[in-house]
Amino acid sequence: MTRCRVIFDPIFAGHDHPGHPENSSRLSELSSWIPANIPRLDFDPAFPGDVERVHDPSYLSWLENRCAATATISWLDPDTYITRRSYDTALHAAGAAIAATEQSLKGEHCFAFVRPPGHHAEYNRAMGFCLINNVAVAAKKVLMQVDRVAIVDWDVHHGNGTQHTFYGTDRVLYCSVHQEHMFPYTGNADETGAGSGKGYTLNAPLPAGSDIADYYHVFSEIFVPAIERFSPDVLIVSAGQDILFDDLLGSMEIRPPDFELLTRMLVRAAGVPLALVLEGGYGPSHGAAIRHIFTALTSDGEVHGAGLPSERAQRMVRYLKAEHHLR
Ligand SMILES: [Zn+2]
Repeated sequence: MTRCRVIFDPIFAGHDHPGHPENSSRLSELSSWIPANIPRLDFDPAFPGDVERVHDPSYLSWLENRCAATATISWLDPDTYITRRSYDTALHAAGAAIAATEQSLKGEHCFAFVRPPGHHAEYNRAMGFCLINNVAVAAKKVLMQVDRVAIVDWDVHHGNGTQHTFYGTDRVLYCSVHQEHMFPYTGNADETGAGSGKGYTLNAPLPAGSDIADYYHVFSEIFVPAIERFSPDVLIVSAGQDILFDDLLGSMEIRPPDFELLTRMLVRAAGVPLALVLEGGYGPSHGAAIRHIFTALTSDGEVHGAGLPSERAQRMVRYLKAEHHLR
């Protein structure tokens, strides 16, 4: 059984706006759901050189200055706030994602509970609660040590920033399942990569109301065979639990125990320890979902089927199978 670590740190409360869905109580409410016997992992903030592999240096200095000039709250767009401490907090989030990824290379699963989230952050722009793209920074850094990184993004929103970072490379397999016709309105199934990256971006948009039968169908028929074919050295999960049935932002029908199944499927497919990095997740049952993810990371268990997928999910899977030449 693979050992497991967790990154959980009060530094991430430094970026906070009570009343906004992405606020510091998201993490404080999770703390009691993380099994007490999981050892913590120490981490350092990301270096400027680490984040500059993903972001425009002039964007980063602009962001740092905007935060320094902020007394209480500033808004970068109607969704995305900063505080005086947000830049430093975001560097810690990216550093935690790096540490979790490097820990997975050392043979242990690691879940990094970071804020602010990252997968919407673009090369030169904050977006959708995200300032620095934590997972992209971690993937770029670990690519200096290994050949191939797979990223699975199960957040209810499409990870536009992550997709764009790796759209032209065959060294990163980006797999996203997300709610269709929803912010950020990218991630159509025909977005599959460009140049040598053609075929290394897999998008599975699903209709609102999709449940574990639909997600299991996408995972078992598309993501698992694609990951097995790619044979990654590292697998990073953009772990957004806003696919839960009671989420404030999403409209999916995933239940907390379903995360055990999804996590087990990725553990098996990857054949390497997982690095999980928190993205979204805003509902009352988020903590219970986290508990089930740790159950999958710390015990052996069966992967069983999950019922009949919807006609829409079946159609999407048929399309993706043909598009990506999967068995
Ligand atoms: Zn999300």
